[in-house]
Amino acid sequence: MFLYLFDHTIAPILNYASEIWGFEDWSKLETLHLKACKYALGVRSNTTTEAVYAELGRISLQHNRHTNILKYYARLSSLDSERYSSKALSMLSLDADFGHSNWVSQVCNLQDRYEIQITDNRTIIKAKVRKHFERQLLEKLKEHIMDDKKLHLYASFKSNFKFEPYLDLLPDFKIRSTLAKLRVSAHNLQIEAGRFHKNKTPREERFCLYCKKSNSFQVETEVHFLLSCPLYESERQKILEITYRNFPSTISLSEHDMFIWLMSQEDYETTKLLGNFCKTSFEIRTKYFNNVGTQIYNM
Ligand SMILES: [Zn+2]
Repeated sequence: MFLYLFDHTIAPILNYASEIWGFEDWSKLETLHLKACKYALGVRSNTTTEAVYAELGRISLQHNRHTNILKYYARLSSLDSERYSSKALSMLSLDADFGHSNWVSQVCNLQDRYEIQITDNRTIIKAKVRKHFERQLLEKLKEHIMDDKKLHLYASFKSNFKFEPYLDLLPDFKIRSTLAKLRVSAHNLQIEAGRFHKNKTPREERFCLYCKKSNSFQVETEVHFLLSCPLYESERQKILEITYRNFPSTISLSEHDMFIWLMSQEDYETTKLLGNFCKTSFEIRTKYFNNVGTQIYNM
């Protein structure tokens, strides 16, 4: 709802008349849009941009500006040659042909970038520009898998560029946002917290502090949190009992594959179970570490 309002009130103002000025990056406008997306998702300001956009099925506002420019050019090009705006366009085109940089030459650059044909109508132009941005974003996510970056786990289950159904299915903001945080690695599990220690902890040594007390040295990943750590066993059983009953074949899945399977589900029951697990288990974790006096950051 918040983003719907943003799209229909703030975004049109931010991009007003961008047919003329919208070629540049305009990073401050993008920052504002990204802040709105993070607010809607309920994640912290340092959450990775690609994950925020991918989770919401959104792309930067720049795609709107470039679409506006290309559609405006198509409209001007179709005007009667006796119209003043058509004559002005012809003059700019002539200058551009002689190598001068102007509005038309910049439009030509955009047409090349998005592979726009002279016969493309407004709908096709819009689709081509959006597809270009979506493809770019999915490629960046793939890089996280290839280079084992922060979002490598997220990228392994987020294969489609679309608004995630759980964001609509879970009405409770706290439940929805804790599930979002787990999915996009915007949490304080050691696998992430270890990155920001004074001396960055090697990935393979970011142990779960609860398990470590029992001399069990398990890296506190999202998979460990959801499917392995004994601290959340009773909460976990609520998910697994129902899941194994509804989908018996999942019993044979490894923990990693089970995590991917759960994160890929879109049905209401699984989504609700996951959301409730995340909210309750992160609360259990915070309470436990507060009680034992271990310094962790609240989510
Ligand atoms: Zn543990």
